[in-house]
Amino acid sequence: MTIVSAFAALAAKDPLVPYSYEPQALGLHDVEIQISHCGICHSDLHLIDNDWSSSTYPLVPGHEIVGTIAAVGSASRLERGQRVGVGWQRSACHECELCRAGHENLCPRQEATCVGHMGGFADRIRIDDRFVFPLPPELDSASAAPLLCGGVTVFAPLRRWGVRSGAQVGVIGIGGLGHLALRFLKAMGCHATAFTSSPDKRAEAARLGAEDAVSSTAPREIRAQANRFDFLLCTAPARLDWITYLQTLKPNGVLCLVGAPPGLLQIPAAQLLTAQRVVCGSDIGSPAAIREMLTFAAQHGVAAETETAPMADVNGAVLRVRENRVRYRMVLTN
Ligand SMILES: [Zn+2]
Ligand SMILES: [Zn+2]
Repeated sequence: MTIVSAFAALAAKDPLVPYSYEPQALGLHDVEIQISHCGICHSDLHLIDNDWSSSTYPLVPGHEIVGTIAAVGSASRLERGQRVGVGWQRSACHECELCRAGHENLCPRQEATCVGHMGGFADRIRIDDRFVFPLPPELDSASAAPLLCGGVTVFAPLRRWGVRSGAQVGVIGIGGLGHLALRFLKAMGCHATAFTSSPDKRAEAARLGAEDAVSSTAPREIRAQANRFDFLLCTAPARLDWITYLQTLKPNGVLCLVGAPPGLLQIPAAQLLTAQRVVCGSDIGSPAAIREMLTFAAQHGVAAETETAPMADVNGAVLRVRENRVRYRMVLTN
């Protein structure tokens, strides 16, 4: 009998404690992954804290998983010993219009890796191989783990909106998601501008691939960017001065949210009409987008900047993420 050794929160906001469970039988399409690395995403903290009222306990977080396949179901197309990754999504119906069109991340019956299921803060996981992605050999396991959620979250909208070489792109918030956006944009040949509230990150933005850095707490600096950007990617889950940011977009420019600000977005309609600006959101990425992102990252050397900590030190690692002290993504190792 297989027993999974994991770390779980037993109630909202609790520290994580060692927790063992017996996994479900290996289904036709399932694989069992021996986990070597798992990133800590802000969504994991929201789940631990039950911020979205969707958490059930015991809760094993973790959805930026890298490991090696230890067992395969009889219909799996993957093989034992393959190095693979898993992101936010663990299943979809594979039958609806959205699934058939390759938008499984929008399937109404989709399930998340660690919502109602045990996630990757563990030594192993069993999961549908249609949401398990072989990793190109060029990618290092620790720095690839954050690509599975954070990476595709910023990569997918850049592709969907046709952001091309030479485009002027602003990235609001330079953290786990934002630093990956700067690296992808540099590799795509775009001109990236970092908007950040931290003076030390302004200095670092150039190293991460930005050509420019603007203080997001200085309205005058933001206003000075008027009519500059083709695309603005907002990774900051904060209420911002949206009107001023919209004015930094060129006509036909797009403001895309990948972090959820609290409350309502209050935007005068005229701001959208007069220059045909678009405000939109984006939610992780489809399996096809994840595969394309991993190939692109391997070809262009895009990887997350990580701190690592042993899985056993998970509570200290979670605390560093909570305190925004990680540059730029925390990854647990087994
Ligand atoms: Zn995530
Ligand atoms: Zn579906």
